[in-house]
Amino acid sequence: MNINTNFNKLPDYYLFTEINNRKKTFEQAHPDARLIKLGVGDVTLPLPRTIVDAMHQAVEELAHIETFRGYGLEQGSRFLRHAVIDNDYKPLGINLDIDEVFISDGAGSDLGNLSELFSTNNRVAVLDPVYPAYIDTNVIAGRAGEWINGRWSEIEYLPCTAENNFVPPLPKSKPDIIYLCFPNNPTGTTLSRSQLQDWVNFAIQNHSIIIFDSAYEIFIQDPDVPHSIYEIWGADQCAIEVRSYSKTAGFTSVRCGYTIVPKATGLNQMWQRRQCTKYNGTSYISQRGAQATYTPQGKAGIMHNINYYKHNASLFLDSLRSMGYQVYGGVNSPYLWLRTPDNLDSWTFFDLLLNKCQILCAPGVGFGKCGEGYVRLSAFASHETTQEAINRIKQM
Ligand code: PLP
Repeated sequence: MNINTNFNKLPDYYLFTEINNRKKTFEQAHPDARLIKLGVGDVTLPLPRTIVDAMHQAVEELAHIETFRGYGLEQGSRFLRHAVIDNDYKPLGINLDIDEVFISDGAGSDLGNLSELFSTNNRVAVLDPVYPAYIDTNVIAGRAGEWINGRWSEIEYLPCTAENNFVPPLPKSKPDIIYLCFPNNPTGTTLSRSQLQDWVNFAIQNHSIIIFDSAYEIFIQDPDVPHSIYEIWGADQCAIEVRSYSKTAGFTSVRCGYTIVPKATGLNQMWQRRQCTKYNGTSYISQRGAQATYTPQGKAGIMHNINYYKHNASLFLDSLRSMGYQVYGGVNSPYLWLRTPDNLDSWTFFDLLLNKCQILCAPGVGFGKCGEGYVRLSAFASHETTQEAINRIKQM
């Protein structure tokens, strides 16, 4: 038996493991410390009651012969796919066919599995800093080349820093697969309509496919920031859009998301085939929960939670800026991207925040070379905790 040796290429180092190790060491040395955790981007508020009720009802249906259900469609239930089209796309003037919507167990799996549609010798481009899963999945698929000086030799990295206003330059090579994530994790920044149009034009001219991760779409508030890549002319020919209810509706444990694979990309039938062969479908209960996010009470419930996090983000942004920090993101995103003061490197500032303020953040360099000199803070804590974090930073 020969194993897939690409797994051996993955560096042992994993950002959140290292954060956890430093957290443990700190806690052992300071058992009474009240740590504020702003590193990992997980939601904290409970689900709106109406969504929980919908899931209860779905469980109850399974208890009765008249309403019991067995296997569902691998592509997802029609009721949820219709709800996605009617609520997330039609209001934006985007017409999708129901066969172009694939319900998933969250964005993470699809972002990994989509790589199976492409040949091993395809070239990949990613933003730097970057959500690590896009790279690791291509390492496993054998597309990344060798790990040399902290970068993969066959991947094109597109720097996003304060110097270019976090607008990635168009690739120099002609990548086949381009991963874009907006609103961005980790920087919290966005692209305008015309900036995204440049990317779609590039992809069409170069026969590239854009995998557009919009897991944080619900945080968008600027009118010039597109909610979907399909608002951009030509995107249906060259883009796959991946979305999730994780941050939108607090579903990080429930698990549900969806992926749009337009027929015009030429990939729809392949993805359909892939899902029918390898995917078990999303739990009926999760799908009923997701459907309930589109009812009037569901919409109000999830927007209440999103506005709660947005309030934290804007409080953080204003306070840190008034202290003289350079901070980005935090407007159309739950993440703030803070430039470390005095040119400190990311881990030194991480240790400073941990030891002086007892605050855990995510060091920017963990997301790529261009994240060096930044840290990421999340707005998913409570108002009180966010205020406490601000007070501690002020005192530092
Ligand atoms: N994409 C981005 C940019 C994320 O930040 C995350 C999770 O934090 C995901 C995808 C994965 O989301 P899901 O919980 O839907 O798998």
